[in-house]
Parts: sequence; C-alpha cells; structure tokens
Amino acid sequence: MGTGKSTVGPIVAQLANVPFVDLDAAVEVAAGKSIADIFRDDGEVAFRTLEAQLLRSMLADPSPRVIALGGGALVNPDLRIEALQFGCVVNLVAEPSTIAERLLAAAAGQPTGRPLLDGALNPVDRIRALLAARAQVYADADARIRVDGRVPEAIARAVLHAWQGRNLVVRTATTTYAARVTRDVPAELIEHLRVLAPSSVFVVTDETVDSLHTADTLQALRHAGIPLGGKVVLAPGEAHKQWPAVQHILEDLIHKSADRNSVIVAIGGGVVSDIAGFAAAILLRGIRWVAVPTTMLSMVDAAVGGKTAVDLGPAKNAVGSFHHPTAVFIDPTYTHTESARAYVSGLAEVIKSAAIADPELLDFMRLHHDKVVARDASTVEELIHRSLGVKVAIVNRDERESGERMLLNFGHTLGHGFEAAGNYHDLTHGEAVALGMLAILRFGIARNITSREAARVIQERIAAVGLPTNVEAQPMDRALELIAFDKKRVASNVRLVLLEDLGRLRIDLVPMVEVRAFFAKGETKRTD
Ligand code: NAD
Repeated sequence: MGTGKSTVGPIVAQLANVPFVDLDAAVEVAAGKSIADIFRDDGEVAFRTLEAQLLRSMLADPSPRVIALGGGALVNPDLRIEALQFGCVVNLVAEPSTIAERLLAAAAGQPTGRPLLDGALNPVDRIRALLAARAQVYADADARIRVDGRVPEAIARAVLHAWQGRNLVVRTATTTYAARVTRDVPAELIEHLRVLAPSSVFVVTDETVDSLHTADTLQALRHAGIPLGGKVVLAPGEAHKQWPAVQHILEDLIHKSADRNSVIVAIGGGVVSDIAGFAAAILLRGIRWVAVPTTMLSMVDAAVGGKTAVDLGPAKNAVGSFHHPTAVFIDPTYTHTESARAYVSGLAEVIKSAAIADPELLDFMRLHHDKVVARDASTVEELIHRSLGVKVAIVNRDERESGERMLLNFGHTLGHGFEAAGNYHDLTHGEAVALGMLAILRFGIARNITSREAARVIQERIAAVGLPTNVEAQPMDRALELIAFDKKRVASNVRLVLLEDLGRLRIDLVPMVEVRAFFAKGETKRTD
C-alpha cells in the first residue's frame, strides 16, 4: 500500500497498450461496498476470498493486461504460484516512512481507509511489521522496483523492462524463487537482501573468484548498509569439494555469531554453490542462501534446483541435501573471465539440456557457433535461458528426483565415474559429462535403443565446441568401479538414462555386470 501501484499501473498499461485492472476496485464493485466496509462487516477472510476468486479468474484469461494488487493478495502460496506462473509479478518497494507519509498526507487528518493501518499507534512500525511478515511474498516476485524519489513514468518503464526480461521461476511444493539474468548483480542482491532482512550476511566464494568478482559486490553491500558478517574464501576446484570445506564454513560462521536469520551469499562456480548451499542446509538446521553463479556451468545448471552436496573421497556428491536458494542472480558477463576450458565445460550441460528437451537448441548452437565460442553476451544469455528453462520445468514437476528429474542425469552416471577416476583433476565436470553422454549413447546404440542420427548430432556438437570425445582413452575399468558409489545404483543394478531420440529418453535399470561387459569389450567405437 502507498507505493503507487494505482498511479503506475495505468501508465504501464498505456505504454504496453493493454487494459488496466485495479483488483481492489474490482473487489469493491463485486461486493457492492468499500473495502473498509467489507473488513468491518465481513472480516478480512471474506475480503481475501473474494479477492482470490477475482484474481484467479483474471489469471485464467490469457489476454494481456496490467493488474494492480496489494501484497496481501499473494500471501496465499497457491495464488502466488499461479500469479508467478501466468504473470510477471512486480513488487513496488518504498521505505516504510515514505509509505506512512503518503497515506497520512492523502488522508489529511481523516482515517486513511486502510483497514490494516487505521488504529495503529505508530504507523511506520505497523508498516514495517507488515512488510516483514510478507517478506517471502515480496522475495518471490519476478522483480522489485524501488519507488522512493522516482517519477511514476520512470517506475512504469522499469516495470515494463522487468516484464520483458522476466525470470525463470522455480516452483516446488516447498518453495518458489526466481533465477534472474541481470547485468547488475550488486543492485539486485541489495534489493533481495533488504527484503530478506537478515541478521547477518556471509559471502562464500573461492580464491579465484574472490580476486576477480567479489570486491564490487562487497563494497556495494557495505555501502547499502547490509549487515555483513564476513567472507569465507575456499580453495578452488573440484578436488576441494569435500567435507573439510563445509566444516570450514560452519566453524567460521558459528565463530562469527551466525544465527538462523543469517544468509549465505555464494559467489562462484558450481563447486562453490554446491559447498555453500550444503553448509546453508545444515547450519543451525538450515539457513537461507542466495546463489550468484560465475561460471557458465553454474549459470546453466548447478546454481538452480536445490541440489547441494560435496564429494566423499571418490564418491561424487555423496553427502548432500536438497536446499534451494531464495534467489539466483546470473550475470552472463562473469563468463568473460572464465578460462576457455571452464566455459566450454559449461556448454556440456547446455548440450545435455538440449538433448533432453530442447533439440532446437542444438540447431541454435550450430547456427551461431562462432558467437557461442566467442561468448557473445546475448548468445550466452540465450543459452542460459534455454538450458535453465529445461531444468526449471523438470525440477518444478519433480523436485526430489523421484522420476523425471533423473533425466537431468543424462551422461552423468558414467561421467561421474570418469571424473572420479581422474581424481577430480584430469577432467572438469563438464568434460566428464560430455564423455559420459558419448559413452551412454554408444551403449544405447548397441542395445538398439538410441537413434544413430540423434547420437551423431550430439557428438558433432560436443566435438565442435571443443569438448573431449576420446571415450576410448578413459580409464574405463576404474570409472566402472567408481560407479558402485553412484546414487542411481540399486543393489547390483544401475539406473541409466538412455536417449531414444532427441527430446525422448527413458530410464532403464541395468545389471552392473552388463554395463561392465559392454565396456570391457571395448565397444565404445565412435557413433559416426
Ligand atoms: P568450479 O566452481 O570449480 O569452477 C571452475 C573454475 O573456474 C574454478 O577454478 C573457479 O575458481 C573458476 N572460476 C569460477 N568463476 C570464474 C570466473 N567468473 N572467472 C574466472 N574463473 C572462475 O566448477 P564449475 O564447472 O562451475 O562447476 C562444477 C561443479 O558443479 C561440479 O562439482 C558439479 O558436480 C557441480 N554441479 C552441480 C549441479 C547441481 O545441481 N547442484 C549441477 C551441475 C553441476
């Protein structure tokens, strides 16, 4: 309330040339009385019920429009999910003092007509309490736009901008949050942290990323008055994705008085987000965390979806938890400082997503090959949107990997074996996944499951971007031994994700002896 939605909304609608609806006004028309009267005569529950009915019918109508509604409407998590699914939710943000000033000035000494405000001894405190109670509602919005000191036209243009670049939204039974592509991580992070209102914020990163990308963000957070508790800098690389890194974070945060209202901000690649997310999952039985991915691989995959883990010796991702971040902020330009090897590794997960559910993305990569390898910003952005689109859609349907989410492991079972067989040193995660995809394609062809043409197209893309294709050169025996640690193993069988055709996969439970026999025969010859 008081942030200007009824003023800004019509301007947005006019700029976009679509109708404008004020939900409060629609409720008053439907009820035949003012909102204050509905609250007085029928109570808040009756008001919310009518408000929800009207909003649902508007969301069910696919014609575009701008709807102004109060934050209270989206406290109901089901309605919030529907609004995020069918619309772009923009939160106009103002300081509590600005809101109080506006409402009291408009009322000119009379009651404000705002049932949740009238009668409050200290309106600013009442507004602050309301905003805190609704923090998660605001945190879930596709965008938050600060209105203090800005003219309505500028705010309206910012709303349109948010709509054009709207987020990928993870929506599971337990949480909703946005993965947002942005060119201004510090500003987005500050807005988000203000909404989360943490007691303290801890940045977790690794040495390489720290030397390149954390200084600006930390300075901006400090400048914005975000309560920084400290920074934990980890040793970089998969070899360090082990329990001691988690223990290091836990001890440091406990030592620095982290509490359950603290927030971890993970700035780094997939190794950092996997470690920091896991530490957040278990510290004090779980604190909130935000992901800021800095590698292509973590932007297109690792930072989103809530899987967090560390390796236990050679057992890949053996100790972990499902613990989603509250938001993911992705700046594609961070990829510019990655090594070519790390960037290309990320493309393995893009090719995987394309093979699973977006075969046209393989065409896109072929047609725009030069821009893909040159890391052209808008091309990278497209790759991120499309790959994450595949992942988010699957995670939304199967958060806990009881079925469809297993498809995201395409190439990973053997890939993890290759990665561990090289002691997490010889191959990057993405390289191992590329080799794992090729190996499983060959297995599928031999069993008449996999289309040769589909395998050819995938192999061609893997080779074109510079990922390794030399499956034959891998320490296959050791990799197969290490598959025994795989989470997809069931007794003496292993669940393999097999590709039938592009966009069509199946999961077979295959006896380990059969997998061993196939690869022991050296039947890993090329598919082309
Ligand atoms: P990484 O985090 O080790 O990053 C690769 C290297 O690049 C590191 O040395 C890092 O310090 C450096 N780096 C990071 N950002 C940089 C930047 N902007 N500029 C320069 N250097 C930078 O590895 P990764 O490839 O990002 O991620 C691989 C990990 O992700 C694996 O452990 C894998 O298991 C995990 N993963 C997790 C999920 C998930 O759902 N949780 C999904 C896929 C992969």
